[in-house]
Amino acid sequence: MPRPIQATVHLANLRHNLERARRSALESRVWAVVKANAYGHGIENVFEAFRAADGFALLDLDEAQRVRALGWRGPILLLEGVFESRDLELCSRLDIWHVVHCDAQIDMLAAHKTQTPHRVFLKLNSGMNRLGFSPVRYRAAWTRLNALPQVGEISHMTHFSDADGPRGVAQAQALFERATQDLPGERSLANSAATLRHAQATRADWVRPGIVLYGSAPDFPEHDAQHWQLQPGMTLATRLIGTQDLAAGDTVGYGSSFKADGPMRIGIAAVGYGDGYPRHADTGTPVLVNGVRTRTVGRVSMDMIAVDLGPVPNVGFGSEVTLWGRAANGALLGIDDVAQAAGTIGYELMCAVARRVPTATD
Ligand SMILES: *Cc1c(COP(=O)(O)O)cnc(C)c1O
Repeated sequence: MPRPIQATVHLANLRHNLERARRSALESRVWAVVKANAYGHGIENVFEAFRAADGFALLDLDEAQRVRALGWRGPILLLEGVFESRDLELCSRLDIWHVVHCDAQIDMLAAHKTQTPHRVFLKLNSGMNRLGFSPVRYRAAWTRLNALPQVGEISHMTHFSDADGPRGVAQAQALFERATQDLPGERSLANSAATLRHAQATRADWVRPGIVLYGSAPDFPEHDAQHWQLQPGMTLATRLIGTQDLAAGDTVGYGSSFKADGPMRIGIAAVGYGDGYPRHADTGTPVLVNGVRTRTVGRVSMDMIAVDLGPVPNVGFGSEVTLWGRAANGALLGIDDVAQAAGTIGYELMCAVARRVPTATD
């Protein structure tokens, strides 16, 4: 019998979330962002649910090949473009569109031998200062690309640094408008946060939602998943494999960081940082036992955590423990709540689910 831990990917919820993103951008086509193995959900698991998208956006050519292997003939976009010249051959062969964010990528294209001109998305650095041409260099990059026989249609894109926060997108969006003014081609600006929060300002040919598709709020804790009508894309669940009755003064786990004030019963659940559960989830991180909300106590170990059974007296060996997502009784625990207690964000928890955790779909 394998350890009882299990991740379940909820296809109906993924479909719902994709529709939710679409409702915020009715005039746009939607890239389903499936980088990082579909934010930890598994590309093969999410594919059927996201078939209704207009394209798949990702980072790795390996992931692009997997999407083609699943039978997808529509657009695929490499969000960081190519990493070496050889990548361009696969782009030609598999008809993969790619971002162009720097001169080195234009040099590679100029030297590339292909019969079929590539569709590229030229990237503007609108203030994030990671990838992209600065506003003053954008037009020169476009002119150079436009002169290459290896390049067909050129689209325009940027990525916001502050779509989820108080700074907003106005300044970055104005830079984008100015840099791309009068240039032909489609446009793409919005990630999840911009799609939900700045739909009017960032309206364009394409939107690029990622995190919302998986049911996490892009601007938590200002808004939660319920506020945005998102449903959990994944449940991470396990079972109790032990219980302990503590007396006042007894401690729990490595470093004895939790000390019982009085008599209490705890459960030991089969999940730990070796499964991707965050080690920084301190005493008090929310967890569901038999669908009842309670808290963790003590440090997270590699393979186990301890949970307070005070609110759920009639449980024991084999009882259901939900780390995030949906319990059997329908109770929900938001991945964002768990992430917050661990000092991180839902994105990181999803991506960190470990290979040893078996994944199923429902
Ligand atoms: C990851 C990514 C997205 C999606 O971001 P979310 O915040 O998950 O919606 C969109 N565009 C680019 C360029 C990205 O790298």
